[in-house]
Amino acid sequence: MRTRFRGITVREGVLLRGRAGWGEWSPFPEYPPEVAEPWLRCAEEAAAGDWPAPVRTEVPVNVTVPATNPRRAHAIVLAGGCTTAKVKVAEPGQSLGDDEARLEAVRDALGPTGRVRVDANGGWDVDEAVAAIRLLDRAAGGLEYVEQPCATVEELAAVRRAIDVPVAADESIRRAADPYRVRDLHAADVAVLKVQPLGGVRACLRIAEDIRLPVVVSSALESSVGIAAGVALAAALPELPYACGLATVQLLVDDVVVDPLLPVGGMMPVRVPQVDDEALERLAAAPDRVDAWEARLAAVRAVRQDRSS
Ligand SMILES: [Mg+2]
Repeated sequence: MRTRFRGITVREGVLLRGRAGWGEWSPFPEYPPEVAEPWLRCAEEAAAGDWPAPVRTEVPVNVTVPATNPRRAHAIVLAGGCTTAKVKVAEPGQSLGDDEARLEAVRDALGPTGRVRVDANGGWDVDEAVAAIRLLDRAAGGLEYVEQPCATVEELAAVRRAIDVPVAADESIRRAADPYRVRDLHAADVAVLKVQPLGGVRACLRIAEDIRLPVVVSSALESSVGIAAGVALAAALPELPYACGLATVQLLVDDVVVDPLLPVGGMMPVRVPQVDDEALERLAAAPDRVDAWEARLAAVRAVRQDRSS
């Protein structure tokens, strides 16, 4: 990683080669086998070439701004070349003043017509969220939406009733036993879908249809191999009213493909990148990490075995 992001500085994962191509399996290190299982379904679907047909040739994307200082935030937005920015807020150890300064810098870099959204990753309680969103809405010169201000679906619903800024649900969908509680409790205006945690492109298309909310496709900080699956979902959705969070390859110092999935003028081309054999060697994990991933894979397969027996 170029910058520490969700507590990690090194991104690890497994690339699976199937009959039709490559898939990425990169559940975060702390995820137990039951949680990592749908991530594997996504990789297997990609490797089998089992994606729906695209209905568009490019996908609008946002630049992602980590919880960094205002000067860096400004530079990241300028370098991103996007008209929408997603800004991380409510980072542990930081203050609301830090978020405010970051948002002012992002607005300055985007200009008055750009769109700014924030992601709190469930870091606030309801009262904190309501106060913070009012303050940050002003600092940003208007927020497009606030993503996952609080941890629970009930809290999201309470925040949504108290503020005018639209609410997006992310963890409340991908980590929930029932992703449709967000819909049933009127807890969100936007659904953030990520292909790995939700079991692949086709599984996400079904959720998008049933949840009846506009969808933003976001990455899980994958290499370009994993990002291609997110792009395949964004390309297949009947409607795509918001920019997607798929321009995250820039957050990595290196990539495993010849032609990384990077946006041009805020748009991501819909294509499958070509895996680079040299990069696979250059970026290969140390033997002890390979052992650890093989053990994780075996644990996920054991979970499947238990379910089917
Ligand atoms: Mg999020």
